[in-house]
Amino acid sequence: MVTTLSRPSVEQLTEFRERVRDFVAANAPAIVAREGHRAPENAEQEAMLRQWFALLFAEKLIGADWPVEHGGDPDHHPLRDRIVAEEIVRARAPRPVDQVNLAAHVILHFGTEEQKRTHLPPIRRSEDVWCQLLSEPDAGSDIAAVRTRGVRQPDGDWIISGAKLWITDGHWADKGLALVRTDPDSRRHKGLTVFVVPMRSPGVQARAIRTIGGAHEVNEVVLDDVRVGPDAVVGDVGSGWSVIMAGLDFERFGIGGNVILLELLVEDLVTVARLGDIDGRPAIESADIRHRLATFACEVEAAKAFIDDHVEQMLAGNDEPGDSSIAKLSFADTYHRLSAHGTQLSAAVECGGRDDDALREARRRLRECWLWSRAYTVSGGSSEMMRNILSKRRLRLPSA
Ligand SMILES: Cc1cc2nc3c(=O)[nH]c(=O)nc-3n(C[C@H](O)[C@H](O)[C@H](O)COP(=O)(O)OP(=O)(O)OC[C@H]3O[C@@H](n4cnc5c(N)ncnc54)[C@H](O)[C@@H]3O)c2cc1C
Repeated sequence: MVTTLSRPSVEQLTEFRERVRDFVAANAPAIVAREGHRAPENAEQEAMLRQWFALLFAEKLIGADWPVEHGGDPDHHPLRDRIVAEEIVRARAPRPVDQVNLAAHVILHFGTEEQKRTHLPPIRRSEDVWCQLLSEPDAGSDIAAVRTRGVRQPDGDWIISGAKLWITDGHWADKGLALVRTDPDSRRHKGLTVFVVPMRSPGVQARAIRTIGGAHEVNEVVLDDVRVGPDAVVGDVGSGWSVIMAGLDFERFGIGGNVILLELLVEDLVTVARLGDIDGRPAIESADIRHRLATFACEVEAAKAFIDDHVEQMLAGNDEPGDSSIAKLSFADTYHRLSAHGTQLSAAVECGGRDDDALREARRRLRECWLWSRAYTVSGGSSEMMRNILSKRRLRLPSA
């Protein structure tokens, strides 16, 4: 889509960044963001997170790209979104739940006017947090293998039954966007429909899955004869595949756009190298270690440059198929290698006595990021699948 948005000047962007920084400093809840620990751990944290997300919406720092009649900002520009994301991450403040924005875009693009009026305002007030009910035990990379079924009833309602797996925030989300097979005779991409499922409906049960860092972020969600009305269908019956694919592109960019996390990882790596000793000398004095750090810093710059360039290309209508896969792949793989190297270096250094607290904290974060790093290479589509998509859509290679 070619847009006529005028690019804000450097001064305007700097001013905007300062405003966001001040806002985050003044309003972010006292919950330090930890990778792999994004869901609230108790009711008090949940209330704090909901209030924080509602404030960000009210200030039009998130959801700024929505149409103005639904609360978007008339001055919205994608470069501002990047600044908001960067400032939140840099302040180590909690990041908004990605699935919320994703669901909102699906509703905005495919929903009826009635669905927009019903579902969008509670998102902005953060009364409704959303999750995505797509993956299943045998339908992850191969999402077209979805078996959860929806059966239309004589009164027009639908009964949905099945099991969804790895559902981020499924235990505290209010609504879920579910991909369901509604034509029992259909195969693969056909016969699928997207539904809004209220997560407190009778028959919805979220079962916790503990991740390697001990957090409760993801769930198995069982849908046992869950009844929803005809107004729960998003898009046309049978058109679920194209609805979800549009949403997934958005999600992959969202993950890839977290490049600021890579910068923070490099900073932690430098801290460990400066403050930790190897053989009695600061690790940073080793040519090998400096070389690795410089190589990683270059890779991070390349990942950032791709995201920045994509914003420009998208605005000019020159974005290409597979861009979102490149964004996700370069972020996730760089994050994994950086945090793995950081964890190895952390284990190799001795405390040099220069700043124990800073060293301890950098080591802790690197380890936490490393433990979470595989989540990025899998969620939203694995790195292997991103390469498959690129070979097909971008390079037009024949299928194996
Ligand atoms: C932290 C986390 C959060 C998640 N959140 C959600 C969520 O909120 N909602 C949701 O619906 N899902 C969610 N998922 C699920 C995620 O989308 C799937 O895990 C992912 O698509 C992979 O599917 P799978 O786990 O079934 O693995 P599989 O598809 O079984 O893949 C196993 C391995 O085989 C490889 N592989 C599979 N097929 C191919 C192929 N054709 N070519 C090459 N290699 C292949 C994969 O790359 C992977 O390495 C989440 C996952 C994680 C880890």
